[in-house]
Amino acid sequence: MPDFAANTAIIGAGLAGLGAAARLGRSGLSVDLLEAEAGPGGRLATLEITETGRQFDHGGQFVTVRDPALRMVMAGLLDRGRAARWNAHIVRLETDGSAQPHPVERFVGMPSMAGLAGGLAAALPLTVRPHYETGVSAIGGEAGAWMLRLTDGTVAGPYNRLVLAMPPHAAASLLRDRLPDLASRVGSVTMAPCWALLLTLPEGRKPGWDAAFIAGAGGEDRPFSWIAHDGSKPGRTPGGWVAHTAADWSIRHRQDDPALVMERLRAAFTALTGMEAPATAARLHFWPEALPLAPLETGFIWDAPNGVGLCGDWCLATRAEAAFISGHRLAGAMGAA
Ligand SMILES: Cc1cc2nc3c(=O)[nH]c(=O)nc-3n(C[C@H](O)[C@H](O)[C@H](O)COP(=O)(O)OP(=O)(O)OC[C@H]3O[C@@H](n4cnc5c(N)ncnc54)[C@H](O)[C@@H]3O)c2cc1C
Repeated sequence: MPDFAANTAIIGAGLAGLGAAARLGRSGLSVDLLEAEAGPGGRLATLEITETGRQFDHGGQFVTVRDPALRMVMAGLLDRGRAARWNAHIVRLETDGSAQPHPVERFVGMPSMAGLAGGLAAALPLTVRPHYETGVSAIGGEAGAWMLRLTDGTVAGPYNRLVLAMPPHAAASLLRDRLPDLASRVGSVTMAPCWALLLTLPEGRKPGWDAAFIAGAGGEDRPFSWIAHDGSKPGRTPGGWVAHTAADWSIRHRQDDPALVMERLRAAFTALTGMEAPATAARLHFWPEALPLAPLETGFIWDAPNGVGLCGDWCLATRAEAAFISGHRLAGAMGAA
């Protein structure tokens, strides 16, 4: 049997691709799940600093669960130890310096955010075959017989149906040659970038909360929208801190010299938390397509005549659970039970 022999190809193994793959697979449909990275998860990611071995959840920080389909999936992940509740002191930090509790049920991957996607991938039905380190560089062929050119130069297909489960600009560039109208609709969705400041600080020092949403974020003196003691999550080593810049600030500073960004963010971190952020303890990561500014709210796109679907947070709402639900709903529209 050839390596790529399924009826449907899903490109992207983030939460959206995993949500679609699980439902299509459960209906007995054969799926090739093609992912450019070495493992699943996409923006729900973990970064390891090689010099120290310390891991940070540098992308999605937690997952909320409102949808019944995702609640069932999360129950399975909790049972199998791939997720845990994050029962931390999480606040909204007001501009006057006061901190208001922000109590919502939040879940994290175990032992890191990447563990959650790993748990979802491990539970995929046997009819779904994941292919990691398998980037797609172009779509060829035609409706009913789509061919995928892979980044190693080989070709996969033909596929009856395609699902693009990736951020909109990446999807638009793959669609442009064969389906230009769909590409321009998808390409019009704007994603904000994000700078992530990652810090390793001495244990024991805390600003009185574990994580904070920052009110009034985005101005020059208030760049962060979120600061968290990564070490307050279950299964993590204490002392790791993650701070994310707000969309407005990130857009204005997307082209800046990383060294200057680092300097400004370290100063802002100290101003907000009262904790020193030495340069030797700091790393910076840039997310070019972090969060959708104005998601479509249609839930997904399904172009039935061409057999091409799209899903992701940008089709529904700005959070991880929306990505999963988007994939799950798309699979339903494609006929999965
Ligand atoms: C900094 C940051 C903080 C966040 N914080 C939160 C939070 O606290 N709570 C929350 O709910 N959400 C948060 N989010 C959002 C959440 O991470 C996303 O909504 C969710 O992970 C999106 O999933 P997705 O499957 O739609 O896309 P992605 O996770 O982007 O997955 C797309 C996948 O497609 C793959 N891919 C792309 N192009 C190709 C190609 N050509 N070939 C093969 N594979 C390809 C990528 O490698 C990736 O794995 C955050 C995101 C970021 C970046």
